[in-house]
Amino acid sequence: MLYVVATPIGNLGDITQRAVEVLRGVDLIAAEDTRRCRQLLAHFGIACPVTAYHDHNETQRSAGLLRTLRDGGSVALVSDAGTPLISDPGFRLVREAREAGIRVVAVPGPCAAVAALSVAGLPTDRFVFEGFLPARRAARQARLGELLAESRTLVIYESPRRVLETLRDVAQVFGGARPCTLARELTKLHETLLGANVAEVLAAVESDPEQQLGEIVLLLGGAAERERTGDAVASLDTMLAVLLEHLPLSEAVACVTRISGRPRNEVYRAALAARPDPVAR
Ligand code: SAM
Repeated sequence: MLYVVATPIGNLGDITQRAVEVLRGVDLIAAEDTRRCRQLLAHFGIACPVTAYHDHNETQRSAGLLRTLRDGGSVALVSDAGTPLISDPGFRLVREAREAGIRVVAVPGPCAAVAALSVAGLPTDRFVFEGFLPARRAARQARLGELLAESRTLVIYESPRRVLETLRDVAQVFGGARPCTLARELTKLHETLLGANVAEVLAAVESDPEQQLGEIVLLLGGAAERERTGDAVASLDTMLAVLLEHLPLSEAVACVTRISGRPRNEVYRAALAARPDPVAR
């Protein structure tokens, strides 16, 4: 049996009783960071062998873990925090275990995305988990451009090192009025929920560097109906203006054609007109 065990995202009191029982009962724990895992186990008085399973050894380690499972051993997969596989390693192991006919059992619990959604005050009936945006600015802006017309609530994981840059990009692409919540340090001492829209969140983070620290989930309300339909032509120019600052014309046209659903030649003509340097046309 392979157990996929969620662990706390900050507050150790959030571990489930079942998680403790499973971690106590398995033959081996596969952990993203063995040191952090041992600290967690020590806190709950659990003694169990721990092996490393992370992004850099996933391929080779999966084979060994599968052997243990095939031989009848039980393994628990844990990540540093929250639910394994959610922006964390484990996908390969779970897929291969299922393909090998091994029973895979969820031991659910904390997950930063779900915790943030539960308190943000944005629609939760339909949402999109985007994980981490690309680290490079041009790629990040292109990804945000692709998401502009998305009508569901967007959930984004962000690193404290990049949060300010990302918020500036979000303001540029989505505008300041888009509903937005920044959920920081959930379940921890400095838990904070900021803002009602992008402009407010950006202003709060710019004016208080402390708001850039710690672990962050950024949530954006989905596009309102008028942004997706009525004003689509106006937003075409806005999208092009933003993307052309960072991308070659052909890439900007490809992104905007995909986002807007408008004919490529129409977008291309609009891009030529919107290009900042007329000499280069
Ligand atoms: N598997 C984890 C989960 O279930 O949420 C996510 C792991 S991912 C590598 C780490 C990211 O999750 C952080 O950069 C942050 O965006 C988010 N995160 C984790 N703990 C958090 C917390 N306590 N408050 C806010 N965001 C958190």
